[in-house]
Amino acid sequence: MHPDDREPIRQAIELSIAERTPYNVHYRTVDPDSGAMNWVRAIARTSYAADGTPIRFDGVTLDVSDQKRAEASLRESEQRRRLALDAAELEAWHIDPATNTLTTDDRFRKIFAGSNEVIDYEQAVATLHPDDRERVQEAIAAATRPDDPAPYAEEYRVVHNNGAVRWVFAKGRVTYNCAEPRQLMSFDGTVADITDSKLVEEERERLVGQLRDADRRKDEFLATLAHELRNPLAPIRNGLQIMRLVGAEGPLEQARAMMDRQLTQLVRLVDDLLDVSRVTSGKFELRREQVELRAVIDAAVETSRPAFDQAGHEFEISVPDEPIVLDGDPTRLAQVVSNLLTNSAKYTHQGGRVRLAVRRENGTAVLTVADNGIGIPPDMLGRIFEMFTQVDRALEKTTGGLGIGLSLVKGLVEMHGGTIEASSEGEGTGSEFTVRLPMVSSPVQNGGPPAIDQPVASSSRRILVTDDNVDSAESLAMLLELLGNDVSTANDGLQALEVAERFLPHVILLDIGMPKLNGYEACRRIREQPWGKNAVLIAMTGWGQDEDKRRSQEAGFDHHLVKPVDPGALVKLLRSLKKPEKA
Ligand code: ADP
Repeated sequence: MHPDDREPIRQAIELSIAERTPYNVHYRTVDPDSGAMNWVRAIARTSYAADGTPIRFDGVTLDVSDQKRAEASLRESEQRRRLALDAAELEAWHIDPATNTLTTDDRFRKIFAGSNEVIDYEQAVATLHPDDRERVQEAIAAATRPDDPAPYAEEYRVVHNNGAVRWVFAKGRVTYNCAEPRQLMSFDGTVADITDSKLVEEERERLVGQLRDADRRKDEFLATLAHELRNPLAPIRNGLQIMRLVGAEGPLEQARAMMDRQLTQLVRLVDDLLDVSRVTSGKFELRREQVELRAVIDAAVETSRPAFDQAGHEFEISVPDEPIVLDGDPTRLAQVVSNLLTNSAKYTHQGGRVRLAVRRENGTAVLTVADNGIGIPPDMLGRIFEMFTQVDRALEKTTGGLGIGLSLVKGLVEMHGGTIEASSEGEGTGSEFTVRLPMVSSPVQNGGPPAIDQPVASSSRRILVTDDNVDSAESLAMLLELLGNDVSTANDGLQALEVAERFLPHVILLDIGMPKLNGYEACRRIREQPWGKNAVLIAMTGWGQDEDKRRSQEAGFDHHLVKPVDPGALVKLLRSLKKPEKA
């Protein structure tokens, strides 16, 4: 016998004999040779003489080692299970589906009902938050249906006795017996209190929502800002054209030319701002056609030429002779290339070198713009395509820019199914931008590259210009008069009708957003008049989307010009119209 058990067993024997109680004990034995320990169960009874003297102590012993080991391992595994549940801050539950009996322990009740009191299945269901109860009951029903039970993993709220609402996460699984049809044996699972993480998640969602909201408002603000900034630019541009037409000379012409250059720069910034807000909001539409890359590059080089000349850069270009045709929007593609060229000109010290090269690579046109300028630090390479990103450097403070050019370029390239990447060995080592665009395999012949607008030529018509921005109307009228037309103006829709009735214009330019009567309505009414049937009606609006064009067409307009109206484009349009009959 194990030395530790000897004394207790001796006492148990004595007690059983003295008190006449059954002797039923467990003790350990130790094999003297191997030292192996076994468990023994001993049962015995005492026989007494008539005078009460104990005379015999008969009993049996059984080896219960296996049972004892099984019990010990069960205890251990239960301890481990407990430890694991404690560590995971989980609590287990068991439901007997036959009786809907719920078996839990203290912690389950604490999590579920906020007290230690035993709760039954109905009480547990009653603690579910009313808004979640039906969903949870449906999930339990689905998880415990005999055929094809659904997985059970539900987040829901429980309401404690004191009214506190807690979030819990319960997971469970059913077991079946082997009978046919099979029967549900149990539904077991765990529950965890997830209130804290839920609160964090809710807070995060709230903040993300706020950020999204702020981002959307910022985009809307930028779009409105750009739109509003465009309006005053139109009369300024007209004014500068007028000065040119009347033949400004000397310092006046110098000042005019300077203002013209600065205005072009301003228009470019505002247009970029408007475009980028349209690209981010998905409102941007490409006017795709088959376009020769060379024509795109020529237009872009033309635009960027002044920046190169000013900086005294050497500019090299290498484009394959064989035409490369793309399916794209020529204006937008030229914008991409000129943006890259202008950046290279801007971020390269005076007298630098910029090289534009094109090559073909398996159905892709690869265009690179490389410079020997200030370069881009490696940690900025991935970020410069994000909106408003500028590398913080002294040179940039003097070059200006909003940090939107590259984000617009990337948006436009991607809308064309292409990619763009930047590379640089680091600051002072120059930069290289690589644009990849899918090529069209068998181009359809068309009229070649879009012609560059040639402004200013006589058209000689009666023209009514209507715009609620008086400066816009007046300046455009002056410009058209200088070109030999007879021009009247109006500043709202009703006035336009009155003036037109007297003036009988060949061409009516109507702003869309006007007081009293908007451009669409004014157009409809003009078309109802005998004198208005054959007039050429041109809409002038800040919005040039297909949808806007469709609306103006429906209202009865013949043409649609996007503000600020480019005088060159207007003159070209006027020249393309049939000569007016003599009236
Ligand atoms: P920005 O209006 O500032 O030129 P962009 O979006 O066009 O805005 O360019 C973002 C930033 O990327 C620039 O501010 C500049 O720091 C950097 N960058 C762009 N092109 C070049 C280049 N060719 N060389 C060096 N840095 C460049």
